[in-house]
Amino acid sequence: MSIVSARAAAPRQLVNQAVLEKLKRDVSGQIVLPGDKDYDAARRIWNAMIDKRPALIVYCATTHDVVRAVNFAMDTGLPLAVRGGGHNIAGNAVCEGGIVVDLSRMKAATVDPGSRRVIIEAGALLADLDAATQVYGLATPVGINSTTGLAGLTLGGGFGWLSRKHGMTVDNLESAEVVTAAGEVVRASAGENPDLFWALQGGGGNFGVVTRFEFRLHPVGPEVLSGLIVYPLAEAKSVLQQYREFAAKAPDELAVWAVLRKAPPLPFLPAEVHGKEILALALCYAGDPARGEPLVAPLTRLGTVLGAHVGVQPYVNWQQAFDPLLAPGARNYWKSHNFSKLDDRLFDTVIQYAGKLPSPQCEIFLGAIGGATARPRSDATAYAHRDAQFVMNVHGRWDDAADDQRGIRWAREFFNATAPFATGGVYVNFLTADEGERVKSAYGPNYDRLAGVKRRYDPANLFRVNQNIVPA
Ligand SMILES: Cc1cc2nc3c(=O)[nH]c(=O)nc-3n(C[C@H](O)[C@H](O)[C@H](O)COP(=O)(O)OP(=O)(O)OC[C@H]3O[C@@H](n4cnc5c(N)ncnc54)[C@H](O)[C@@H]3O)c2cc1C
Repeated sequence: MSIVSARAAAPRQLVNQAVLEKLKRDVSGQIVLPGDKDYDAARRIWNAMIDKRPALIVYCATTHDVVRAVNFAMDTGLPLAVRGGGHNIAGNAVCEGGIVVDLSRMKAATVDPGSRRVIIEAGALLADLDAATQVYGLATPVGINSTTGLAGLTLGGGFGWLSRKHGMTVDNLESAEVVTAAGEVVRASAGENPDLFWALQGGGGNFGVVTRFEFRLHPVGPEVLSGLIVYPLAEAKSVLQQYREFAAKAPDELAVWAVLRKAPPLPFLPAEVHGKEILALALCYAGDPARGEPLVAPLTRLGTVLGAHVGVQPYVNWQQAFDPLLAPGARNYWKSHNFSKLDDRLFDTVIQYAGKLPSPQCEIFLGAIGGATARPRSDATAYAHRDAQFVMNVHGRWDDAADDQRGIRWAREFFNATAPFATGGVYVNFLTADEGERVKSAYGPNYDRLAGVKRRYDPANLFRVNQNIVPA
């Protein structure tokens, strides 16, 4: 008997009732179906441009639930999506007419301060990780928006304020528990299933459902020197040139990112600056704040400061500083390049496009990584972009679908105009849904090895709702 009935039917009828009832009995978490009152909330993700209607959403409570859900997908042939934090711009946390394995209720964390390790379930957000580890004054490098999912971020590489000092998130991964396409629970580490472990360190969700991560931790804060220094767009070229010189000599402890956008109504900016185009330098010093202060002082002397708000604050607060600007519910379209150096002509193009932002929420940021992220060999982990000193993201963002065309055109034109200065590599976690032709650039020279690991762990490509690696 076929357990998947006609694909054209309404999603509720897609799955044979008896098979569904069995799944309901087998999992300890919750199953949400089309028509249920929670269905629309359950299928909604960070990027409001994504509007997919899964046949069922399984809120897993345990690794065992994940095994059941994976087996269900294998048996039924339904597409399978895995949701960590649901933040991915491409919308791969959900799928049309398939099963969503939703991990958002699996967030437990155990910290061992002695060995400086955390074991954390894969539905955790960055805020959950930071909250658990900062109790002990420990942290591992993750992204700059605390509501991002830890799982998707880690599996793509992961970088943030601590990365120049402590590397990519995957450089700090010690082990992972994985449910494979065969429904087996395996551990991956340097000593166990090392090929799988290598592939998880940047190969995305291609190899199984990670249910648990173990990370190495480092003493951080709990207070760090951090904040913003804001300059007018009119002075951006000169400020960016000085920023380039500064960044080249900055110690690993110091990360300074450049952001061009319209000024939000921040309390430390005069009212007349609100809504005007600005260049903001966002910084974090991941060492003793007293040592950081003289180091960051020159950043306030690069031109006419419109406002500055730099001080010592809890690391967890700085990790949440950008959350209000990045709240879920807006329509988002991104384009991204990696740069090994910053060319003057790149600055000209950045400034030109920052002068014609299609909405007040759009921004262009240059994230300074380098430091410890650039020292491993490009084949040390699946994340290959060890030549990237800066990751640029063109963040198109607006509220109204009527603005889609204009905003997307701006982002694409800007992306094309800046391509001549880029490395050609791209961070897999910044790819949108329409960038299939860039997937090989995202995995770079490691693609073929990844395709080999994929063949071993997922020969039928069950895990394909992602930036997909085709089994070799
Ligand atoms: C506002 C914002 C800020 C960001 N800032 C940063 C940043 O500072 N640094 C950075 O590195 N990245 C950043 N990102 C990118 C971020 O790393 C990706 O969006 C990432 O995919 C988010 O992870 P998630 O778990 O929320 O994603 P989801 O959308 O839930 O999933 C993304 C992909 O990962 C797969 N996946 C998720 N969980 C699992 C799992 N447990 N097992 C197997 N596969 C899984 C999914 O199937 C999907 O293909 C940012 C994103 C946003 C939206």
